[in-house]
Amino acid sequence: MFAVEDLSAAYGPVKALNGVTFTASRGQVTAVLGANGAGKTTLLRTVSGLVRSTRGSVQLDGKDITRTATEKLTSYGLAHVPEGRGVIAELTVVENLRLGGLHRSTGSEPMPIERIFELFPRLGERRDATAHQLSGGERQMLVIGRALMARPSVLLLDEPSLGLAPRVVAQIFDLLRGLVQTEELTVVLVEQNARSALSIADHGVVLNLGKVVASAPAAELAADEQLRHAYLGF
Ligand code: ATP
Repeated sequence: MFAVEDLSAAYGPVKALNGVTFTASRGQVTAVLGANGAGKTTLLRTVSGLVRSTRGSVQLDGKDITRTATEKLTSYGLAHVPEGRGVIAELTVVENLRLGGLHRSTGSEPMPIERIFELFPRLGERRDATAHQLSGGERQMLVIGRALMARPSVLLLDEPSLGLAPRVVAQIFDLLRGLVQTEELTVVLVEQNARSALSIADHGVVLNLGKVVASAPAAELAADEQLRHAYLGF
C-alpha cells in the first residue's frame, strides 16, 4: 500500500500542495487529476524527494519514506517517470533500457530486457533504433520500460499522454492497464487528460489549488457531471 498523508509543499510563498491525503493500492491505477497548476506535478516531485515537503508523510508498504533522498527511493521500490520523455537520444532502445537496470529495488535482479519487449512489443521491433529515431509514443514506452527495469513496486507517471495523438494515448493506456495487473504494480498516474485516465483507472483523486477536492472510484468520478465540468474539463 502506498499512502500519502497530509502532504504539503511550497515554492517560497506559493503553497503548491496543501494537506494532500490519499492511498493507492497494488494492482491498481490511481489517477491524479486536476487543471493546470492544481499541484499534480508537485505532488509527484514531493513524493520522490525532488521538492521538500513542509508537512505530512509518505508511506510505502508500511515504511516511512518521507524526505528520503531521491537516489535511495529507487532501492525502496519507487520509480518516477517525469513529464517530457527524457531519454539519451544517441543511445539505442536496448542501451537506454540497460541504464534503467543499473539502480534498482534492493535485492532484486534487473528485469530481463526480453520481458520488457513482451510487455511492449513495439520496443522489441525498435530495439536497435536510437532513441531520437523513435516516435513520441515509442519514447513514452521507452521511459516506462526503463523505469520498470529497476523492478519498482510503485510507478509514478507524470502526463504520459501529453502531446500524443488520441490513438497513441489509448495504446499507451491499454499497455499500462495490462502492466498493472501482470506486474503487480501500484501506478499513480498524473494526467490532464482526465477522460482517458479515468477510463483505465481504478481510483481517482482530484486536486484543485493544492488540495484534494474529490477521491473516489474512477467510474464514480467519471459519472459526476458537476465535478467533471468544474475540475476535469470534460
Ligand atoms: P501542470 O499540469 O501545468 O504541470 P500541475 O497540476 O502539475 O500543473 P504544478 O506544476 O504542481 O501543477 O504547480 C502547482 C503550483 O505551483 C502552481 O501554482 C505553479 O505555478 C507553482 N509552481 C510549480 N513549479 C514551481 C516552481 N518551480 N517555482 C514556483 N512555483 C511553482
